[in-house]
Amino acid sequence: MRSFAAGAALLALTACATTPSRFPIRHPPIAPNAPTLARMWDGQKVSSPLSPLVDHAEVRRRVTTIRDGGGSLFRVKEEGRSFLGREIWSVSFGRGPFVVLMWSQMHGDEPTATSALFDLYEYIRRHQHQPAVAHLLDQLTVHTVPMLNPDGAELFQRRNAQGVDINRDALDLATPEARLLKSLRDSLNPQIGYNLHNQNWRTSVGPPMKGAAVSLLSVAYDEARSMNDGRVLTKKLGAVIRDSLEPYALGRIGRYDDSFEPRAFGDQLTLAGTPVLLIETGPWPDANPDPMLVKLNYIALVRSLHALADGSVHQADPDRYDSLPENTGGGFHTVIRGATVTRPDAERPQVMDVGLAGVRRVRLDAGKRTAVLNLTVVGAGDLTAAATSFDINASGQVLARRTQGAAVGALVSVAAADLVITTGATVPADLMLLTPLPDGRYRVERLVTAEVMLGVK
Ligand SMILES: [Zn+2]
Repeated sequence: MRSFAAGAALLALTACATTPSRFPIRHPPIAPNAPTLARMWDGQKVSSPLSPLVDHAEVRRRVTTIRDGGGSLFRVKEEGRSFLGREIWSVSFGRGPFVVLMWSQMHGDEPTATSALFDLYEYIRRHQHQPAVAHLLDQLTVHTVPMLNPDGAELFQRRNAQGVDINRDALDLATPEARLLKSLRDSLNPQIGYNLHNQNWRTSVGPPMKGAAVSLLSVAYDEARSMNDGRVLTKKLGAVIRDSLEPYALGRIGRYDDSFEPRAFGDQLTLAGTPVLLIETGPWPDANPDPMLVKLNYIALVRSLHALADGSVHQADPDRYDSLPENTGGGFHTVIRGATVTRPDAERPQVMDVGLAGVRRVRLDAGKRTAVLNLTVVGAGDLTAAATSFDINASGQVLARRTQGAAVGALVSVAAADLVITTGATVPADLMLLTPLPDGRYRVERLVTAEVMLGVK
């Protein structure tokens, strides 16, 4: 069943696109397109709605279920241990000649892609007998490492338990997690690597400026950002992903600057012969951005694996990657529009916008894991052009620091000091919007809270 068609596809996959094939071209089975995958994800996902709540124990439970599920579809292996002794597993599928390595959550507080990997496994399990997936399993061997940094993930912190950023440890190899990743690359010698992250929540792309839901990077392997076959391939994969995601995230897909960073894994792996595509997931304008971000990751991973398996990646136009706008920072979670604001350095109140940044954190308390959104006051002025996920129209209202016990509808007096709005990365967004009354008091119209609870596990 596989011999001739698989041979032709393999040749298409490995040969230069201009090399004529001596084999008759047989078309591989048609893989699901992005709209079909989007519907599949809606109906078949197994990931939980809040990725920050996924801890190491949940990864253990899921990979153990896969391992004990029987059959030869998946291979689950403990590849090593974290600094604090937590298991780091690989889950592999497929027996094809083209080897893929993907890893998630090397930064512990970047959980979205770990959940997307759970959904990828489910896609493979459910559809293993569909022709396109069977073809994928014939053509590719895919190794995945869900949660490379379990100690960081447990505390929801970027760095590992030694306080080291694993993605800056590709040369020193001071961390067991970095040594594990390097040794996987050296033993598997994958033809492509996927480095899966979340990006800073303020990342934006435009114009018009929007939160960057997904940023891609065809990773460089030298200062000159030279091109080789590997980089062409990662650019083409980036083009496949852009085309797949654009209907769902139009104007929200960006590209990172491809400066060479020798301490980073993507750069060192690309240099070692495994070209790396970086996929970073960012803000999404929803109270819980995760489900959509997991869905975008899922579509990107499944579509691009199929494109590698059926050779269609070679028809992709790298300019579809190159023409992505470069991302930038400075976006907001929420912009309060047109409020009357007193700034510390101003003589009188003025009408302006105030921008709030939102960062997710996990609090650990008596074995419970609580995900929260922390909002801080980081910008003031005319923020018309900035990216934001949410807007609050505050026209005609006065912005003040929230006072103890203030409730919507209450009539309050406000101390002059509480009308002064300062900005900074650590200024909590405990605010209230007020309508001034003729007697000098204010009516509370709206409260903004610096910490919003998202969920508990
Ligand atoms: Zn990261």
